[in-house]
Amino acid sequence: EGRSGGIVINDDWPGYSLDLFSYPAHYSGDLDCVIVPHGVIMDRTERLARNIMDDLGDHDIVVLCVLKGGYQFCADLVDRIKALSRNSDRTIPMRVHFIRLKSYLNDQSTEDLHILGAEDLSFLKGKNVLIVEAIVGTGKTMKTLLKHVEAFRPKMIKVAGLLVKRVPHNTACLPDYVGFEIPNRFVVGYALDYNEYFRDLNHICVISESGKTKYKI
Ligand code: 5GP
Repeated sequence: EGRSGGIVINDDWPGYSLDLFSYPAHYSGDLDCVIVPHGVIMDRTERLARNIMDDLGDHDIVVLCVLKGGYQFCADLVDRIKALSRNSDRTIPMRVHFIRLKSYLNDQSTEDLHILGAEDLSFLKGKNVLIVEAIVGTGKTMKTLLKHVEAFRPKMIKVAGLLVKRVPHNTACLPDYVGFEIPNRFVVGYALDYNEYFRDLNHICVISESGKTKYKI
């Protein structure tokens, strides 16, 4: 079985009505629909951990968590890998390192990408690196980050991305492990933000027009 591009969510999928789930009341009216419920994220993450264990078991890895949006996925993925390491003969000794990227203002990608906490990644030399990202859009961010990390000469680099968007000009830079392939709409929740709002929402949702206006800066 070749690695898949993840669970495909089609463009015509209307999502789940918010009324079917619980979510913080302070966001009522700010969201259109639930596109991936929290439980499904967790189930998919469990399988991604299994795939990572199958490929990398018995290798030491350095997990490179891409903040801020990636913190929840990274924490949950690392948790699942730890559970597998506790319960099988094969284990993955892990270190976790955090870097922070910033390129978005409102829902628009900006040209300049800032990498914080990545000034000296020389400890990555000769190591197996697993980059953990919440979402890949055009792939520009991923490409820039990969180039930056490659310069420190790690032995191997793998990328886990929870979400990959179907965007017209994706630079064909796909993660090795993909949770879901989603329509090209702006999503929030599960640590993904819109101007720092919605990180405290556990489902992945599509923001509404009024939500965009309300939290615009
Ligand atoms: P790319 O360079 O691939 O176009 O954009 C990647 C970055 O943009 C991600 O790391 C993420 O921070 C941000 N991003 C792209 N699409 C979305 C989205 O739908 N929602 C949120 N919250 N961030 C996004």
